[in-house]
Amino acid sequence: MKTWQQLSQYQPRALKVFQNTIQKDRLAHAYLFEGKRGTGKKEAALLLARSYFCEQLVDGFQPCEQCKNCKRIQSGNHPDLHVIEPDGLSIKKWQIQSLQEEFSKTGVESNRKLYIISDCDKMTTNAANSLLKFLEEPTKGTMAILITEQIQLILSTILSRCQIISFQPLAPAIIKEALMENGVPIHLASLVSHLTNNIEEAHQLSEDEWFAEARLIVIKLYELLIHQPQKGLLFIHSQWMPFFDDKEKLESGLDLLLYLYKDLISIQASLDDDVVYHDLMTMLKQQALQLSQRAALNHVVSIMEAKKRLHANVHPQLLMEQLVLTLQEG
Ligand SMILES: [Zn+2]
Repeated sequence: MKTWQQLSQYQPRALKVFQNTIQKDRLAHAYLFEGKRGTGKKEAALLLARSYFCEQLVDGFQPCEQCKNCKRIQSGNHPDLHVIEPDGLSIKKWQIQSLQEEFSKTGVESNRKLYIISDCDKMTTNAANSLLKFLEEPTKGTMAILITEQIQLILSTILSRCQIISFQPLAPAIIKEALMENGVPIHLASLVSHLTNNIEEAHQLSEDEWFAEARLIVIKLYELLIHQPQKGLLFIHSQWMPFFDDKEKLESGLDLLLYLYKDLISIQASLDDDVVYHDLMTMLKQQALQLSQRAALNHVVSIMEAKKRLHANVHPQLLMEQLVLTLQEG
């Protein structure tokens, strides 16, 4: 359960909009929250729900989190809040119809009612048409929040009846901070925050043993290439390929390697704050001095090329051998 302050860090613009509208008591009757997975849409919807039903708003917009209504929403059983999720693969017509029936009665405890439809792009055509009628004839005190990751799949007739709120991908600094608040060490938090802008995925990655080991193997290859480049190929055969043994894993390996070389460029440009491999700062600083800027840039380019070739289905081992030979050139 996220507080207003926490969500404001993720989505400052969206939350600012709601702060103003709640304070002025001008909430629309239908919202569509759109944006990628892990951007806080569902949490924001539940936060808004608590603000909508709260009996003693703080500063005129934040839920108190203490009153009966706030507590019931926190525990998922407020009689006037309905959350609809796909039944199997889709949201079916009967789900929307039973919602309509429910909403034709007055609120159990107040004259307010709110429904949230998660993954609303998964509505069947019949369900979407039922919802459309519902949206066209809003009853007083009724609010809808539709949530989607794929706004392009939503009927334009539905879009035109909703106020659309876009949820932005999270910046690396925000993800890093959130991970560290959860006890993830800075060296992992910093790296993970650059690999995904999805907070859930970031949490999973930072707890993933495979990921921690991948990081070590990448650092080992990097160190070999600096200190004993002639051993690079052997390492690729004996450790790298067996570990990164499919396309997806190999791509992660290449990303991890890419950030090491990007760090050299950051250091050369005196942008130490942008360095991803914090714990290797001393070593990286030394190497940034020894390597020309052009060489560092060339390395970054060749790793990006290797990623492209991976997508073009070049044989992974061949691709890695060629990459290592290029990186050895220093
Ligand atoms: Zn409250």
